[in-house]
Amino acid sequence: MAIIMQKSRKKIILHVCCATCGAYVSTLLSKDYEVVLYYSNSNIYSEEEFIRRKNDVEKIARNYTLEMYEDKYNHKAWLEFIKGLETEPEKGKRCLKCYEYRMKNLVNKAIDLGIDNFATTLSVSPHKIYKYIKSIGQRLEKETGLKYYDQDFKKQDGYKKSNDLSREMNFYRQNYCGCEFSKR
Ligand code: SF4
Repeated sequence: MAIIMQKSRKKIILHVCCATCGAYVSTLLSKDYEVVLYYSNSNIYSEEEFIRRKNDVEKIARNYTLEMYEDKYNHKAWLEFIKGLETEPEKGKRCLKCYEYRMKNLVNKAIDLGIDNFATTLSVSPHKIYKYIKSIGQRLEKETGLKYYDQDFKKQDGYKKSNDLSREMNFYRQNYCGCEFSKR
């Protein structure tokens, strides 16, 4: 899949959880938008792992000539936000808060940059709950007046295609979602 390099289209800011999901969704969205990548993942434990995943997202930005921004790593603030939900299972209430944390940061960045459209790669993974992601996106859309790009990216073989592209681009493939609780 090739990225369309035209720079005169409307912009969309894309929250990228990792390069495996990010490359595939960037190629999809670039058919209609100029994609701006946003790496905002303070959920990740440890900082080394955060940097390791970020390095591959930077490869996407370089290979596809996309603008990219990075959110400051603040795992302490993320832990505070999900406090009390540490023992929840994956796909449970902690994850809902985790999506919310990252998507709120995304819309704040969109507002800072003056970008009207926002999307997240979170729905690529079968380990994430699409209906939670969608409801947060729609709520943030109402609160901010920005436009949420709603799509369950794992559909139409999206998860497989993102993994194929990841292998092709030789990305690091993590074996846990991100936080220390998902390592259990
Ligand atoms: S398991 Fe993944 S989505 Fe859930 S809280 Fe941890 S990092 Fe976030």
